[in-house]
Amino acid sequence: MPPSYADRLLTWFDDHGRKHLPWQQPRTPYRVWVSEIMLQQTQVTVVVDYFTRFMTRFPSVESLASAQVDDVLSLWAGLGYYARGRNLHKAAQVLCEQHAGKLPADLAGLEALPGIGRSTAGAIVSMGFDQPAPILDGNVKRVLARHAGIDGWPGRSAVARQLWALAEDRLPSGRFADYSQASMDLGATVCTRHAPACHACPLNADCVAHRSHRTHELPAPKPKANRKRRRSQLWLIRNEQGHYLLERRPPVGIWGGLWSLPEADDATTPPLALVEPPRPGPVLVHELTHFTWELCPMSALARGAQAIADGDNMSWYAPDNLPGVPAPIRRLIEEDRAP
Ligand code: SF4
Repeated sequence: MPPSYADRLLTWFDDHGRKHLPWQQPRTPYRVWVSEIMLQQTQVTVVVDYFTRFMTRFPSVESLASAQVDDVLSLWAGLGYYARGRNLHKAAQVLCEQHAGKLPADLAGLEALPGIGRSTAGAIVSMGFDQPAPILDGNVKRVLARHAGIDGWPGRSAVARQLWALAEDRLPSGRFADYSQASMDLGATVCTRHAPACHACPLNADCVAHRSHRTHELPAPKPKANRKRRRSQLWLIRNEQGHYLLERRPPVGIWGGLWSLPEADDATTPPLALVEPPRPGPVLVHELTHFTWELCPMSALARGAQAIADGDNMSWYAPDNLPGVPAPIRRLIEEDRAP
C-alpha cells in the first residue's frame, strides 16, 4: 500500500518543515495560543519579533491577565486587527478566573474563550497538547482543496464543511503536533497561492489539481463584491515642542482602545486653537477586511501649551515616544515630520 497522505506529509516535514520558530522552543499551550492568534492575517516573518517581545513581557497566562489592556495593545501596535490583542487579554482573565490559569485541552473548552475559533482551537490541541485535532487555516484549506479537487470558495459553508471533513479524515495516528505544523508549512512554502512547487511536493502523485492542471483555479477565489469606502478627516496637530495631540479611541470598534489622531466631524473646527490655517496632507489609503478607509489628515500648529479638555482621553506625545498607535497613524505622523 502506498504511504498515506499523513505519512507523506510527516516524512516531508522531517526534512523540510520548520522546527526552529520561537513558539516551538518550547512548544507550550500558552505559546502556541499566542502565536496562533498573532499568525491570523499576519506573516510568520513579521510575527517572530512581536512574539518574542510579547513573551518577554508576558511569559505566562497570569502575567497577561494581570496586565493593563493598554500595555497589551502597545505591544500589538503595528500588527493590526487589534481585537485579537483585546481578546487575548480577556481570554487570559477568563483562564485565571475559571481554569486556574491553564488552557483547556479540549476543543469545546477552547472555543468558549474570546477570540478562539475552531481552527485555532485545533492548533492548540494538536500543537500545544499533541492530541488529535484538525486545523483549517488558509494554508491548509489551499492544500486540501487542491489535493482533493474541491470546487467553490472555501468561505462558503458547504465548501468549508467538506474541507473540515477532509481535515478530520486525514489525521494521523500520532505525531499530531508535527502533522499540524507540516500541513501549515507545506501550504506556506510549497503549495503556495501562486506558482506552487508541485515537483517538490510529497502529495503530487495523487493531487487532483496538479494532475488536471487546475492549481491556478483552486481554491476558487472569493466572489467579487462592491467594496465599501469610508473617508475620515484626522487632525495632525503639533505644538511648539513638536509633540502631537493624540486621542484615545473608544474601547470597541476599529483600533478600539488605541491612541490615534483626533478624528474631525467638521474640518473647520479644530479641537484646539491653531496659530496657522490647517493644511491638508496626503491621503493615506488603508485597506481593512471589510472596507477601504481613506485617512485625510489636516496638519496644523497649535497655540502654546493649552489645557486639554478631555483629561485621560487626550494628550500630547513626543513622536519618538508614541504610545500604542496603529501603524497608519504612525506613518501619518512620520510623514508630517519629514522635512
Ligand atoms: S501537488 Fe501541487 S497543488 Fe497539489 S498539494 Fe502539492 S503543491 Fe499543492
